[in-house]
Amino acid sequence: MKIAILGGGITGLTAAYCLVKKNYQVTIFEKEKVLGGLAVGFKSNDWNWYLERAYHHLFANDYDILNFAKEIGFDKIFFRSPQTASLFNDKTILPLDTPFDLLKFPYLNIIDKLRAGIMITFLKLSPFLSIYEKQTSKKFLKKTMGKNVWNILWQQLFRGKYGDYAEIILASFIWARIKKRTKALGYVEGGFQTFINFIEEQLKSLKVEMLKGYEVGEIKKQGDKCIINNTLYDVVISTLPTPILIKVFQQILPKNYLQKLSKIEYLHALTLILETDKPILNKTYWLNISTSKIPIMGIVQHTNFIDKKNYGNKHISYLGWYLKRENKLMKMKKEELIKFVEPHLRILNSKFFILNSFLFKAPFAQPIFDKEFIKNKPDFITPTKNFFVANLDMTYPYDRGTNYAVKLGKEVAEMI
Ligand SMILES: Cc1cc2nc3c(=O)[nH]c(=O)nc-3n(C[C@H](O)[C@H](O)[C@H](O)COP(=O)(O)OP(=O)(O)OC[C@H]3O[C@@H](n4cnc5c(N)ncnc54)[C@H](O)[C@@H]3O)c2cc1C
Repeated sequence: MKIAILGGGITGLTAAYCLVKKNYQVTIFEKEKVLGGLAVGFKSNDWNWYLERAYHHLFANDYDILNFAKEIGFDKIFFRSPQTASLFNDKTILPLDTPFDLLKFPYLNIIDKLRAGIMITFLKLSPFLSIYEKQTSKKFLKKTMGKNVWNILWQQLFRGKYGDYAEIILASFIWARIKKRTKALGYVEGGFQTFINFIEEQLKSLKVEMLKGYEVGEIKKQGDKCIINNTLYDVVISTLPTPILIKVFQQILPKNYLQKLSKIEYLHALTLILETDKPILNKTYWLNISTSKIPIMGIVQHTNFIDKKNYGNKHISYLGWYLKRENKLMKMKKEELIKFVEPHLRILNSKFFILNSFLFKAPFAQPIFDKEFIKNKPDFITPTKNFFVANLDMTYPYDRGTNYAVKLGKEVAEMI
């Protein structure tokens, strides 16, 4: 049996690995010249390690990817506990990693802190409850932790992550977010691309066909099979983002099914990477921006997590945003964006010099987990025989991640 996998991100690669192990003939079609999708990395002149286009780390409980790495003989994942913190009022950076940090937090009274602490512990320990899908995170957090806690701790984080959608995100998102978070964070020796390249080598030796630089256009059916690149495939698995799947599967999937999928909304991810002579953040790896005065969602000082010697001794930081396509930042050239953010960064540290920079956009990278989403999200099985979907909309209630990409890849392969 011949199987076509559309998309060579981690979901597609994992599915290919599992299917070829079941003795199927597998072809991967990937639009880009390199495999890896949203987790793809690149190298600059004097770097020894790859760097992801968008900040990446693992949590200690990302068992699907950790077990898969073991299964294929990849042993280059390590864990550390870098500092995460939040920025309040322009300049005040406060760590919020531990219950002790919360107790010392100056902008909430003791009752608010206790309520927040108890609820965070409850969310961490409790299983998923259906009530989380019946209310928004805003309503849930205000009700359980109090209005002050919402205003000071959460509101800006939701705005940064979800923009105009901040107030309609379901409480299931915040449950999953708190449940999954671990203090220890994982990374791959050499960068995530090293892991992707390792899988690619395995797939090559298992005779999986990988067509890189091949953008799949609208595909056609022939009976229960379908034709791609003049070849007939018995089964097609799409790992493409849903809005692209809708275009590619126009003639294959029923109109009402495609209409349902088209109701899901997305934001696009924008990352600006700065290579500097000094760090922008002194100690912190991950800085949430909890003030509306700074128009950035978060700053990730990668080299406070991973040694700068792997990047030619330069300091690497990411500035990140999730935005609508029409947002003015999405249209800015790299130099314009640097000019826009630099004055804000100088408030945090006036003494760095930008040596190099990179700008990346990832379309449809952030699905909006609202009440429409849960009605319309895709599932592995589609109404059309032999056509399957496994994409990042299906990680709900968890936010997309490489761990879930592996899980989805494995699960879709089990269905065939
Ligand atoms: C800003 C950001 C930060 C993130 N941080 C983390 C993190 O810290 N930790 C973590 O684990 N995960 C993180 N993720 C998520 C993680 O990268 C993804 O969940 C995972 O890589 C998704 O893999 P996938 O294979 O499902 O999808 P994708 O990687 O999107 O793969 C889909 C593939 O389809 C290809 N494609 C698209 N159209 C076509 C076409 N027409 N024809 C052929 N190919 C096509 C794409 O090029 C892509 O390679 C982050 C993502 C973003 C955007």
